[in-house]
Amino acid sequence: MAERITGHTELVGLMAYPIRHSSSPAMHNEAFAHLGLDYAYLAFEVDNSTLEDAIKGFRALKMVGANVSMPNKTVVGQYLDKLSPAAELCGAVNTIVNEDGVLTGHITDGIGFMQSLKDNDIDVIGKKMTICGAGGAATAIEIQAALDGVKEMSIFNIRDKFWDNAVETVRKINEKTECKAVLYDLDDKDKLKEEMDSSYIFVNGTGVGMKPLEDQSVVPDKSFFRPELIVVDVPYAPLETKMRAMAKEAGCKTMNGLGMMLFQGAAAFELWTGKEMPIEHMKEVLNIKYE
Ligand code: NAD
Repeated sequence: MAERITGHTELVGLMAYPIRHSSSPAMHNEAFAHLGLDYAYLAFEVDNSTLEDAIKGFRALKMVGANVSMPNKTVVGQYLDKLSPAAELCGAVNTIVNEDGVLTGHITDGIGFMQSLKDNDIDVIGKKMTICGAGGAATAIEIQAALDGVKEMSIFNIRDKFWDNAVETVRKINEKTECKAVLYDLDDKDKLKEEMDSSYIFVNGTGVGMKPLEDQSVVPDKSFFRPELIVVDVPYAPLETKMRAMAKEAGCKTMNGLGMMLFQGAAAFELWTGKEMPIEHMKEVLNIKYE
């Protein structure tokens, strides 16, 4: 470190609360070091009450970029100068890029999801996706998939506080993209089966499968899965969920959320440095297996 940090080292920050558990600093610092880039990535405990000051500090210190996580993702946009089309549509930002004092907010979660599919030889363009979820992760995936060219999307969610967000997402997708999106109640399991049966890919973008819901699945049983269906789980802790175990048993190709996590970081890394993250090296060092 004594040799690595110099008077020229560029700073990238992560602003969220809580944040000490994050694996992003290890990921980005390893990638900077591996490529010999003079950057350092540090995590800062910032919540909504200190966010505006933190962004002023970011500008004053001429930091090159930052990641933003909860609870700041949906709030930070107002302090920035520009938003990417996906960030605008999602109403959320997870990456800030500083170009000569102009701060642009991006959302790379959906880009990461789409890239992780490509990396696994899964091509969803022009095809139908069924996806559960209307929170941060699912919305980012839905918007990016629609922008990238997924043809049809059936979105399922329970009628909780996220339902209105799903209604908005469907409206925006149908208005602003070529994709045709429809929203259904996740409690309607007959409809879920029907939509899954006519889809190329099924995605669980909810917190179901992750603690404290680790013994649950959005799909009731393995008869919902036919072997040709690609099945992706966005949660990655635990890596093996009840739903993925069922899908594997039915003969489906499956993926966990680690690929999305890795590639959302890679997309941000490229925005800050203009360089591709050394993906194969990162998979090895971080022991990332998402198939
Ligand atoms: P969120 O709180 O914004 O959204 C939660 C979603 O889960 C909503 O759609 C909600 O309706 C749904 N949900 C909650 N309880 C449910 C239940 N009992 N039955 C059915 N649906 C239920 O959360 P988020 O940030 O969107 O995260 C969702 C999951 O994605 C988490 O497991 C998170 O760890 C994971 N995630 C993964 C990545 C990645 O890179 N792989 C990135 C972000 C989030």
